[in-house]
Amino acid sequence: MIDQIYRKTVLTVAGNKAVESVMRSRGWGLAQRFVAGHQADDIIQAVKDLQKDGIGGLLDLLGEFVDSPDTANAFAEQILSLVDQAAAAGIQPYITVKLSGLGQGLTVDGEDLGLTNARRILSRAKPHGGFLALDMEDHPRVDVTLAQFRRLVEEFGHHYVGTVLQSYLHRTEKDLADLADLKPNLRIVKGAYLEPESVAMQDKADINASYRRLVYANLKAGNYTNVASHDDGIIDDVKMFVLAHGIPRDQFEFQLLYGVRRDLQKQLASEGYRVRAYIPYGDDWYPYFSRRIAERPSNALFVLRGMFGG
Ligand SMILES: Cc1cc2nc3c(=O)[nH]c(=O)nc-3n(C[C@H](O)[C@H](O)[C@H](O)COP(=O)(O)OP(=O)(O)OC[C@H]3O[C@@H](n4cnc5c(N)ncnc54)[C@H](O)[C@@H]3O)c2cc1C
Repeated sequence: MIDQIYRKTVLTVAGNKAVESVMRSRGWGLAQRFVAGHQADDIIQAVKDLQKDGIGGLLDLLGEFVDSPDTANAFAEQILSLVDQAAAAGIQPYITVKLSGLGQGLTVDGEDLGLTNARRILSRAKPHGGFLALDMEDHPRVDVTLAQFRRLVEEFGHHYVGTVLQSYLHRTEKDLADLADLKPNLRIVKGAYLEPESVAMQDKADINASYRRLVYANLKAGNYTNVASHDDGIIDDVKMFVLAHGIPRDQFEFQLLYGVRRDLQKQLASEGYRVRAYIPYGDDWYPYFSRRIAERPSNALFVLRGMFGG
């Protein structure tokens, strides 16, 4: 409950226009703990550095909630160029994206622009052994994102596209069951948005129990599972679960955020698990940065100290 109050307070304060304006002009130095840089070259260098420790990358150009087709198409062009640059640098173009940034909800030529742009990215990435993961955003977008995921799996195959399920939503176990026929590649997360009680669990213990159920069910179904969490308890339980059920190490991976628990990322890789870091880059860093601060009180202290000294 205290966690929820803290999270709600931070996300509400972060949404205040005056706070946003100060943070955008003065906060970049702090955001660099979580964001690899502004340019594609920065993220490519970050992936190369992580690869030295046996850690792969999820490449994320920051951008979301776009409301014009031109902006969405420009965003998609930047991602296409990232695919080309990653492939030229010998890095797997494993892209992760928010469909709201690609124009989800805007109709152009009778088709949802988010879906059209996702197809363009997949067509460019697939020949290079790439992958496209559709991030999950706030709850009004879940239905459309899952429907578009289904379309993309049917067109490109489940080895090339994945999506995310959030354990805090009441609906998620049913969503998992409904996706079963796709043999889905799923990233399981707890959920990062401010959601009302009517749609999302508020109690941490309930969210954690739901998280474990989702991961175990997707693994038992034989589907590729991305265990995206920094929670030691969950990670340890997943390690025991896969051992007890004979689930091979190439059927799952641990995914963590760039700049969070680097020690744990290295340790998991050194133990022989597949590990991938979610690496954001770009100019639109503020919403992402706010969600990271909201996840942990000590991150807020780090911001306050950075802004005001001490
Ligand atoms: C690879 C990846 C992809 C994600 N994609 C999505 C998505 O598509 N949609 C979505 O809604 N959410 C996404 N998330 C965010 C997720 O929903 C959670 O908000 C976030 O992962 C924190 O939850 P946790 O599982 O790490 O556990 P928590 O219970 O929040 O944290 C467990 C422990 O991890 C550490 N920790 C957690 N967060 C931080 C942080 N920001 N800074 C420092 N330490 C921290 C702390 O030690 C904490 O005690 C993603 C997370 C990851 C790792």
